[in-house]
Amino acid sequence: MRKAVRRISAAGGWLPARLARWLKGPGVRILTYHRVAAQPEDRLCVPPSQFKRQMEVLSSGSAPVISLSRLITAAGGGGISSAVALTFDDGYDDLYHHAFPVLKRLGLPATVFVVPEFVEGRGFLDRFGPGQKFLDWEMLREMEAAGIEAGSHGLTHRELIGFHDKELDRELEKSLLALKSNLDDRPRWLAYPRGRFNPEVKTAARRAGYLGAVTVLPGANRAPFDLFGLRRTEISRDDTLFDFRLKVAGAFDLGHAVWQRRGAAGVANFKEYARPGIKRFTGKHGFDNVFSGECE
Ligand SMILES: [Zn+2]
Repeated sequence: MRKAVRRISAAGGWLPARLARWLKGPGVRILTYHRVAAQPEDRLCVPPSQFKRQMEVLSSGSAPVISLSRLITAAGGGGISSAVALTFDDGYDDLYHHAFPVLKRLGLPATVFVVPEFVEGRGFLDRFGPGQKFLDWEMLREMEAAGIEAGSHGLTHRELIGFHDKELDRELEKSLLALKSNLDDRPRWLAYPRGRFNPEVKTAARRAGYLGAVTVLPGANRAPFDLFGLRRTEISRDDTLFDFRLKVAGAFDLGHAVWQRRGAAGVANFKEYARPGIKRFTGKHGFDNVFSGECE
């Protein structure tokens, strides 16, 4: 059932995605990963063998895999019309063991968004409990030397909406400072914790001195880029290689957009009433497990 809903969603999004590519160009598709690990069995953990196949597809594809920083060149008229960029949220240490060797072998750049408090052993995410391990500064230095740059995912991973200016600046500036002092002084990117942002958060991110910021809004990025509102496409454990190709081509964008806007469209209550029934067919996370857009 879950697969059927995914297929229907992708089929419904295929034609709009083709049309958008034809009218506006393919754009830059930024992929979001969290963990690359076989365990625990969680949709945010992509098994290493699956990840390796996905990277091989990308490296032999027609769209170049670029670093986020190349977007700046493109925004300045550098002419990137079709590309893929790779991002990893939260900075789990399995990235060092399972993703880094593959990226290094294939020569693919990427950005890992880390939480300095987690890097230094203070705090964790409830989703995976206190036993989880994160990348440390030493691992990050080694990864940066091979083209995998580190970005900020907030100082403590708290959602940035609703903070007073001072608190907001602390989350954004202190995390940037931690990256610059433990790695090097290069300009850095931000990933809004849990993808939550508003105009005030965007302004604060600019004020703190970031190059730009990524969100969990679905779709490709086309010039002129909104550098503090970059869209991303989440890759999950549920994606077969076929799904992965469809996601990179944009076929899931429409489904993701509809699912993310369900509240704005006035159907939020639908979720509450229908979820128990949906779960019987789709698994414990209901439609959240069918579509992406879930974030940590
Ligand atoms: Zn996160």
